[in-house]
Amino acid sequence: MASSTLKIPCELCEQPVLVNHFVLNTPKGDKLFCCEGCKSIYQLLNPDQLTSAHQPQEGDPLNES
Ligand SMILES: [Zn+2]
Repeated sequence: MASSTLKIPCELCEQPVLVNHFVLNTPKGDKLFCCEGCKSIYQLLNPDQLTSAHQPQEGDPLNES
């Protein structure tokens, strides 16, 4: 018998996720995607589920006067 590998469907297109390189951390938990494109589209469709980790909150250092 083949080993039962758990196939997690992509959050966007529901294709089986073969590699877990594309993970998005959301307030509801980690979301897995099959590719970077699906991850990007999911972020566009669900902007409120993003963490603020990638968005710098500091002012623009080039615009300092
Ligand atoms: Zn996908």
